[in-house]
Amino acid sequence: MVTRRPNAVIVISLVLAAAILAISAWVLFEMRKDALRRAQESAFNVSLLVERDTSRNLDIYDLSLQAVIEGVRQPGVMALPPPIRQMVLFDRSATAKDLGSLLVVDEKGDIIVDSQAVPARRVNVADRDYFQVHRASPTVGLYVSHPFMPRLSSGTVSIALSRRLSHPDGSFAGIVVGTMRLNYFRKLFDGVNLGEGGSMALMLADGTMLMRRPYDAQITGRSLQGTANYTRFTEAPSGDFFGTAAIDGVARWYAYRHIAGYPMILDVAIATGDIYTEWRRRAWIIGSLVTAVDVALVALAVLFAQQLRRRIAVEEELRMLARTDGLTGLNNRRAFEEIIEAEWRRTQRSARPLSMLLIDVDNFKGFNDLYGHSAGDDALVAVARCIAGHVRRPGDSAVRYGGEEFVALLPDTGEAGAMRIAEQIRAAVQSLGMRHVASAHHVLTISIGIASTERQRFGTCRAFVNAADTALYEAKGAGRNRVVVWPVEARAEEPQTVDQPAG
Ligand code: GH3
Ligand code: MG
Ligand code: MG
Repeated sequence: MVTRRPNAVIVISLVLAAAILAISAWVLFEMRKDALRRAQESAFNVSLLVERDTSRNLDIYDLSLQAVIEGVRQPGVMALPPPIRQMVLFDRSATAKDLGSLLVVDEKGDIIVDSQAVPARRVNVADRDYFQVHRASPTVGLYVSHPFMPRLSSGTVSIALSRRLSHPDGSFAGIVVGTMRLNYFRKLFDGVNLGEGGSMALMLADGTMLMRRPYDAQITGRSLQGTANYTRFTEAPSGDFFGTAAIDGVARWYAYRHIAGYPMILDVAIATGDIYTEWRRRAWIIGSLVTAVDVALVALAVLFAQQLRRRIAVEEELRMLARTDGLTGLNNRRAFEEIIEAEWRRTQRSARPLSMLLIDVDNFKGFNDLYGHSAGDDALVAVARCIAGHVRRPGDSAVRYGGEEFVALLPDTGEAGAMRIAEQIRAAVQSLGMRHVASAHHVLTISIGIASTERQRFGTCRAFVNAADTALYEAKGAGRNRVVVWPVEARAEEPQTVDQPAG
């Protein structure tokens, strides 16, 4: 029973506390995984949406370029009056906000048709990469340029999308080019919520940075080639990973994808710190609460165990008191009943001998009458001490049976041993030398009757006790101050005594 074992209470509380702790840790761990999963999902979703938006807008822009090429090829279009030609070549989509100019450039790099001005502004673009790449090869298709500062308007940093114009014989006839302000991407990025440390970047496939959020004008045009993150961006059309930005050294979860159909890479990244901010706050609260609950639980258990220990000690003491004789400190009659019952069962089972000494003070009524009740009590205490002094082996019991009668119960002791101990006790009491003028021996003496199961089998425990009583009776009859063993020889004969009574 737990209520008898204070330490078990503490152990159980510790196990419970540990269980609560383990469950909380597991929940927190799951919450942490959820936080990461949410961040991963939102990075993935944002990258998907921005990629689609970008790709769609570039598609539209490319369609405009192709429409211009179609128009230029139509016989007679270039011969139209400039305002009409303007209307035929450029539809409205090409003049949308943040899209710059659509230009038709001849093979020398001079602008011949300009969506923004009639007549065309006089600028040569032969030195631009988007011109040179088409002049060098007829198979480039759509080209996306490196960022540059436009010469035409006072515009902001832009990129250009260009396609080649060819003569009917396939030779280089110039290009159609549309410029696009990088501001377009800056606005697109700014509208997205990625947390405080979040970042987004759009770069060319060769690692040239076009736009990054948080915005920094210095970053546009910088090459990411050789950085760990860029290397991973190039490994697959899309993916995600934990990485640290070369630009600001912040650890983030990255989701990246290549813009479908264009040599561009987009990445969306959420700072590791942001991912776990909310989780960390909750972990602190839950952790503190659980710790408090655990501490309270164990503290209560310790208190309870203390009370339990105290109660058990009190109960033990009461039990002991209930079994102890108040005057002599020996076992009392109640304890004797328990002890003899247990010993009797044991001797029946094991066939090991059990011996019993029934001890009675001689002429004690007379002692009381002569010296007073209080002196009688002292004498009983002294006799009890003599008995206890000789009944010392583990398992032995000394009992105040009642009044001036005592019992010594000696398990695993045969008749001879019992007689030896009885004689020692008898001699010890006699040698106390307590004056008793009314006694034939002049001092206080005792008589002892012995019963032992060694030589005689008794049917019942009662018969065993009665045998000791009979022997004691014989000892009294034979003149007291002696030890008699049961079975006693015929009454007429000399009783089987051990010692010659003194006097
Ligand atoms: P015998 O030799 O035959 O045993 O004679 P006895 O006088 O000892 O026998 P008896 O049984 O007549 O007397 C026992 C007396 O012991 C009676 C009682 O006054 C006394 N007695 C019993 N218990 C106590 C006790 O606790 N204290 C004191 N002082 N005397 C007690
Ligand atoms: Mg008596
Ligand atoms: Mg007596």
